[in-house]
Amino acid sequence: MERYNRQLVLPQIGEDGQRKLIGARVAVIGLGALGSLSSILLARAGMGHIVLIDRDVVELDNLQRQVLYGERDLGEAKAVVAGRRIGEMNSSVEVQPFPSDLIPKNVDDMLAGVDLVVDGLDNMKTRFVVNDYCVKNDIPFVYGGAVATYGMTMTIVPNRTACFECLFPSLPPAGSVATCETEGILNTVPATVSSLQVADALKLILGEEVGGKLLTYDAWLREINEMDISRNEDCPSCGRKEFRYLTEDDADLAVSLCGTNSVSISAKGTERIDFDSLEARLAKIGDTRRGEDILKFAVDEYKMTIFQDGRVLISGTGDTAKARSLYSRFIGD
Ligand SMILES: [Zn+2]
Repeated sequence: MERYNRQLVLPQIGEDGQRKLIGARVAVIGLGALGSLSSILLARAGMGHIVLIDRDVVELDNLQRQVLYGERDLGEAKAVVAGRRIGEMNSSVEVQPFPSDLIPKNVDDMLAGVDLVVDGLDNMKTRFVVNDYCVKNDIPFVYGGAVATYGMTMTIVPNRTACFECLFPSLPPAGSVATCETEGILNTVPATVSSLQVADALKLILGEEVGGKLLTYDAWLREINEMDISRNEDCPSCGRKEFRYLTEDDADLAVSLCGTNSVSISAKGTERIDFDSLEARLAKIGDTRRGEDILKFAVDEYKMTIFQDGRVLISGTGDTAKARSLYSRFIGD
C-alpha cells in the first residue's frame, strides 16, 4: 500500500478505492502512443491485472511518441516489451501480453473477464470488433484517438451511454481516414488523450458515473470541447444487438500468397477509393504511381498495389498480421 500513499490521501480514492484498483483487471488494446502511456499510468496507479495487446514490433519512428520503448527494443514485439517494462515499474501488477492481431476469432481469449478496455488502436475496423464485444458482454470501453494536432475520447458504458457505433455509424471507406503515417502526429496529443482515458478508467473501477460525452482536444489551438452523444435506438450494436463485427472474420480477408512474400487484403463493403486524396497523402511519405484503376505506393521495403475497390496487394511481407498493420497505417481502416 505504501507505494500508493499519494493516492490514499486523495479523498476520491483512499484505501477502499485503492483496494478496488488492486482487484481490477483491465485491457489496453493497441500499445502505440496512446496505449504506451495508458498502460504506464494504469500500472503505476496499481491496477492488479493488465492485459496488453498489440500486433506490431517497435520501429524507429515510433520512439518520437511511444513512451514505453527505447532504442534497444527495435524489432521486438511491442506487447512483449510492454509486459517487461510494466513489470519493472510495478512488480505487483500481473501482466498478460498478447503479441497478436485482435480478430473476432480470438477476441474472447484476450478480453474475457476484464473489467474495462482502454483503446489505443490505430484503426477503426478493430474498434468496431471491440465495441461489439464490449456491448455484448457489458464491458466499458474507453475510446481514444489521436492524429496530427488533435485527439478525442469518449467513454462507452454499454446499455447506458452511446456506443462506438452510435458515434460512428459505419466503417469509413478505405483510404479516407487520416492516419498518423500520412498526417503526422504531435507527441503531446496522445499524452493528453491517454491521461483523460486513464482518469475515466480509474473512475469506472471506483464506481463513479462517467461516459456518454465526446471530448475533442486540439493541442495547437489549445481548444477543448465536449458534446453529448445520444444513443441511437436503431444502432446495430447496442440497439439491435446484431454484433455483426464479431461474426465477420477479418482473418479470411487477408490472404498470404504462397511463395511470393506478399499478402492480398480485401476491403469488405467499402465504397470506391478516392485515389486523388489518397495519393496526395501517400506522396508525402513514399513513392506513388498511378496506373489504370490502380495506385502504386512504395515505402521502406514494401510495395502496395491499391485497387479502386479497396483491395490491396502488399509485397515485402508474407505475414498477414503485418500486412493488415501496414494497411491500417497507410490506407486507413
Ligand atoms: Zn450503439
